[in-house]
Amino acid sequence: MTTVAQVIVDVPTLQTDKPFDYAVPQALAAQLQPGMRVWVQFGRGKRQVAGMVVGIRPVAEYAGTLKPILAVLDYTPVLNPEGLALSHWLAAQTFAFWITCIQTMLPTMLKVDTQKNVVLGPAPTAEAKALLGDQSALLLADLDEATTASVIRLLAQDALTLAYRRKDRAKVKQVEHVVPTATADFAAARATLRANATKQHRLLDALTQWQAAGTTPAVSAVVADGALNRADLVAGQKRGWLTLEAREVYRAPYAELDAQPLTQPLPLTAEQATVTATVTAAVVAKQNDTFLLEGVTGSGKTEVYLQVIAKALAMHRTAMMLVPEIALTPQMVHRVKGRFGAAVAVMHSGLSDGEKFDEWRRIQRGEAQVVVGARSAAFAPLTNIGVFIIDEEHETSYKQDDAPRYHARDVILHRAATHHAPVILGSATPSLESRARAAKGVYTLLHLPHRINDHPLPPVHIIDMRDAYKHGGKEDFSAELLTALEARLARGEQSVLMLNRRGYSSFVMCRECGFVVQCPNCDISLTLHMDSHTLRCHYCGHEEPVPSVCPSCGSKKIRYYGTGTQKVEQTLHELLPTARVLRMDVDTTRKKGGHARILDAFGAGQADILLGTQMIAKGLDFPNVTLVGVINADTGLGMPDFRASEHTFQLLTQVAGRAGRADKAGEVFIQSFNPEHYAIRYAQAHDYEGFFRQEMAIRHRGDYPPYYFTVRVTVSHPEEDQAAKAIYSLANTLRQALSPQAIVLGPTPGAIARLKNRYFYQLVIKYKREPALDATLMQVLNDTQAASRTGFFVGIDREPQSFM
Ligand code: ADP
Ligand code: ZN
Ligand code: ZN
Repeated sequence: MTTVAQVIVDVPTLQTDKPFDYAVPQALAAQLQPGMRVWVQFGRGKRQVAGMVVGIRPVAEYAGTLKPILAVLDYTPVLNPEGLALSHWLAAQTFAFWITCIQTMLPTMLKVDTQKNVVLGPAPTAEAKALLGDQSALLLADLDEATTASVIRLLAQDALTLAYRRKDRAKVKQVEHVVPTATADFAAARATLRANATKQHRLLDALTQWQAAGTTPAVSAVVADGALNRADLVAGQKRGWLTLEAREVYRAPYAELDAQPLTQPLPLTAEQATVTATVTAAVVAKQNDTFLLEGVTGSGKTEVYLQVIAKALAMHRTAMMLVPEIALTPQMVHRVKGRFGAAVAVMHSGLSDGEKFDEWRRIQRGEAQVVVGARSAAFAPLTNIGVFIIDEEHETSYKQDDAPRYHARDVILHRAATHHAPVILGSATPSLESRARAAKGVYTLLHLPHRINDHPLPPVHIIDMRDAYKHGGKEDFSAELLTALEARLARGEQSVLMLNRRGYSSFVMCRECGFVVQCPNCDISLTLHMDSHTLRCHYCGHEEPVPSVCPSCGSKKIRYYGTGTQKVEQTLHELLPTARVLRMDVDTTRKKGGHARILDAFGAGQADILLGTQMIAKGLDFPNVTLVGVINADTGLGMPDFRASEHTFQLLTQVAGRAGRADKAGEVFIQSFNPEHYAIRYAQAHDYEGFFRQEMAIRHRGDYPPYYFTVRVTVSHPEEDQAAKAIYSLANTLRQALSPQAIVLGPTPGAIARLKNRYFYQLVIKYKREPALDATLMQVLNDTQAASRTGFFVGIDREPQSFM
């Protein structure tokens, strides 16, 4: 009888995307469980890698030989059975490697690095010994070029050999405490001390106090007090008076919020009460229903979420709530933590790896019952989930751009079925996909059509920028918007100004010859960053200084183009010199906590105008904001993207929703070069349903989602003709394999034809029902992966955000 473990190894290539069998040594048999990380030898060489146990089975007779599991890296599984099944589902759903999906689901700190070392080989030479010196092993990655060359030569001679070592990143934070020895008689100890042993007297005094009070203070606190230092404590430990005990602590990113008194549930409005009752009934009945909550901005959706969560908790179940990345920092966290305190674990990209790891462990250990987080929080190891909530469900940030290309909404819907729990998809402007599903009865549509306290939605004025200058406009500002800003300044009210940066970036162009500075690795112009005075490629990270003369013709007439937030800020200072302006964009929020600092300052009234990019459109709730201005509504409309109108409508509606949320009435100004465009007109009327109907008609005519499902396939290769050849043969394969109803668009060069020195070609498949599609794509993937050694990469993106 042998016990065999099936292991997915950390080598993402085709041959390793299925589990491998390993023998479980007797000594490990009792402790090993599926969902634990292990360390194994892989392939013919001595290579050692990390892996995940996905199954264990006893086998009477094993044909062939089995390598053993070398080590188990966990005491308890890091993936429970639901997590394991989810990872498998995710791999099939996204056409990604299973191991990549597993790693996506786990905190970064649980990734095990494999380090290559060189050690003395079977035929050691003097040179090899000299190279190692007094060290037993050298880390290959640390060596300089010349040494690496010698090492490679010595490896070939067997004078050196490769060894693999693992480096687990998981670090538990510990704090040292002073524990007075319970049985110690400090009075007796003092009697034996000399009178001038001041330090020891002081220590005994302190220990006597702590013993009496039953406290075990942190060493850092004792030392900070100044009377004693660590050496005194160590000396006390030697005498048996105390022990220094390392205790595990969590890195708690929102500890200060947990200390505050909890907020009480608000009495619900009649509309809120109806919605809450409907969803709560499904929570109680453990019914896997999906509710689309269409509620205008400021209609109190968040209060509904909080009360539904409270109901799940009262039933001893847990709750998961996803919010867009930006909304998390920080107002939404305050509201959920404010209601449920330390029961809430928060997960988003603004946390350090250590903080993320600790929040994850609190969830895994059942110490947190509510999870609030961005996209990847959908994988949090919460058990017994009673309700799932996705706020602003239309947000594009729920879709991950690189492998695994998953949509958090799909993950949530899948998990909700497993947990027999309802899902709330909330938005003022639902995605067309979700709203269409509600129309078909797949989801239940719930409405919150009014703002709280019947505050009206703010009137929206559309300003035609095509003749703004004729009417006294200056720079990027129409006369109307300027007047409205001045009125707010005079009244001491606040304004929010948004610069829509979608489909547009600032770049540097020569006015003499038109030369635009391009990335040397990618076919795209470099983006200007004023704060560091550099040009950067947002794709490969290339960075260079801003040129003072044109690199092409030598002219000095090189100019910065595009209305960056910095430029608008300058203009504001010139036009409204007394206004205090806060700017919020990627440059001012790059540092940790940057969002929070700016919003706190604005909330505290330290500025009159908050100027920012899209990131100010969501979730802000400031009572003193009575004016919202959109400087350029249109930049996104020009993009060759079938979702351009939808995104523009959503953005304008969201940002307009920031005005007049409390007792003071609000007003919105939208500056546009396409004032007649239906996306802008429907946003002006706060008419989501009208927009939905018109946009659906357009999608229907163009055979776009949600009438069709879509998949985008991308092929890349360092040589352009290779990439082109591959995509054309792939298009042929697909046309033969799929039904005549499927539409294959392209192939075309990628929107950015060259990226990181690789050429990209793509095609898009539109279909309604293709039972053979997944298998065909999987086959394509396997065939090309076999060719990946010759430089091909294939990317498959289910329901891409755009076709570009
Ligand atoms: P939404 O999420 O739909 O934009 P919010 O949940 O932010 O709306 O609610 C808007 C404002 O109304 C918030 O300041 C919130 O505290 C307040 N609010 C919500 N529900 C109630 C209620 N039942 N009674 C009083 N105020 C409420
Ligand atoms: Zn680049
Ligand atoms: Zn030039």
